[in-house]
Amino acid sequence: MSKIGFIGLGNMGGPMVSNLIAAGHEVRAFDISVEAVTRATEAGAYAATSGADAADGVDVVITMLPAGKHVQSVFLEDDKVMDIVAPGSLLIDCSTIDVVTARAAISEAEKRGLDMLDAPVSGGIGGAQAGTLTFMCGGAETAFARAEPILRTMGKNIFHAGDAGAGQAAKVCNNLMLAIQMIAVSEGFALGDKLGIDRQKLFDIASTATSQCWAMTSYCPVPGPVPTSPSNRDYEAGFTVAMMLKDLLLAREASGEVDANTPLGAQATDMFATFAADGNEGLDFSAIFKHIAGT
Ligand code: NAD
Repeated sequence: MSKIGFIGLGNMGGPMVSNLIAAGHEVRAFDISVEAVTRATEAGAYAATSGADAADGVDVVITMLPAGKHVQSVFLEDDKVMDIVAPGSLLIDCSTIDVVTARAAISEAEKRGLDMLDAPVSGGIGGAQAGTLTFMCGGAETAFARAEPILRTMGKNIFHAGDAGAGQAAKVCNNLMLAIQMIAVSEGFALGDKLGIDRQKLFDIASTATSQCWAMTSYCPVPGPVPTSPSNRDYEAGFTVAMMLKDLLLAREASGEVDANTPLGAQATDMFATFAADGNEGLDFSAIFKHIAGT
């Protein structure tokens, strides 16, 4: 079992820590929120007093932070975790951040003789609680081999996507496709409403025809056809509009950096940005149906 420093104990990090402890790991936990640290100690973690303190004397440091600037601050600037950890330690950043910052952090870690992966997740808060997250990892094969058994205590599908930054690249590509598919399904159902076709009938037909996709069959944006989808709970998140917008902006940034042609991604970003600015950031992202249908 490993001694793990865990930094960032929010909606995702909190339950991930619980699963690490349940698997027998020793966890030194830190968050700038005192309440989050208290919850982690109730789950069995040791309360660290700073990010630097969480990294002191451990073999592995895992971060689950909001964005690239927080990752940079924890590893290299304010907490200087990369300078504190023992030589040869393993660093795993599970936050969703931009590819450039992820690659730069891994390069800095390797210069110091540390193993590091970018390992963003999908599966949401439910997946974090159930220990069924999907991890998309970027970095050296040796780092992945060390991380895989630890990630397996928090997730079900653990992928090595490629070199440094490949995990973040996989994540933004996936969520770009998901956003566009959710908009496509919403447009189809909004048109169907205007044409007077029953939603359940349209679902029965489309879900067995060529437009079938996860956004339709597992997360249908109109209430009714899929009982577990957020549309049946007034679009209670789930995966919020704000989070989808964050990931679309990361996809836009990545597209700009490599000059990729992503016109539908650009339009999806504008639609989610407008919907978020109208006070809908906290709704599930499938609520984009309301924006499209004008309801
Ligand atoms: P969150 O805001 O609930 O948690 C982030 C935590 O980081 C907060 O508790 C915050 O206090 C803490 N923090 C910020 N700066 C810190 C610092 N310098 N030192 C220590 N702690 C610090 O966010 P979340 O929902 O847990 O998401 C975390 C990451 O996972 C994000 O990058 C997000 O995009 C990604 N993600 C979230 C979901 C989801 O459904 N929530 C799904 C997939 C990926």
